[in-house]
Amino acid sequence: MLKIRRKEYAALRQHGEETYPHECCGVLLGQMPANDNGVRTVTSVARAGNTRTDSAHNRYNIDPKELIRIQREGRERGEDIVGFYHSHPDHPAQWSPTDLADAHWVGCSYVITSVEKGKAALTNSFELAGDGEDDKKLVAEKIEVA
Ligand SMILES: [Zn+2]
Repeated sequence: MLKIRRKEYAALRQHGEETYPHECCGVLLGQMPANDNGVRTVTSVARAGNTRTDSAHNRYNIDPKELIRIQREGRERGEDIVGFYHSHPDHPAQWSPTDLADAHWVGCSYVITSVEKGKAALTNSFELAGDGEDDKKLVAEKIEVA
């Protein structure tokens, strides 16, 4: 399960509206599950530039240098990377085969917001589960907005 405050939830959805008709992407920072409760807690979100200028409407990619910077700044605040988010302009909030292929952080959340005609619609979250690259899968999980 992903626990996120209303402010951060609104921020990641708004990001998708701002970049429409292109995809937005960003990083979720916070706390990984402390024990076996499986709850990832988001305490801040970091916007990232989409480096996929060739087809920014259906692909997203975060510059590795930018990701390292976001990770370092998060650690200085005591936050870890707990997931990633991106938008699907005029497409359902479901992961695509490309999303699965591009997902590498097992145990993290992948949040997708569908943006219909410029307005954020459904937001879904999926946990990347599995033992590694060979049997990874995206599993729907609950989002609790507090
Ligand atoms: Zn996608």
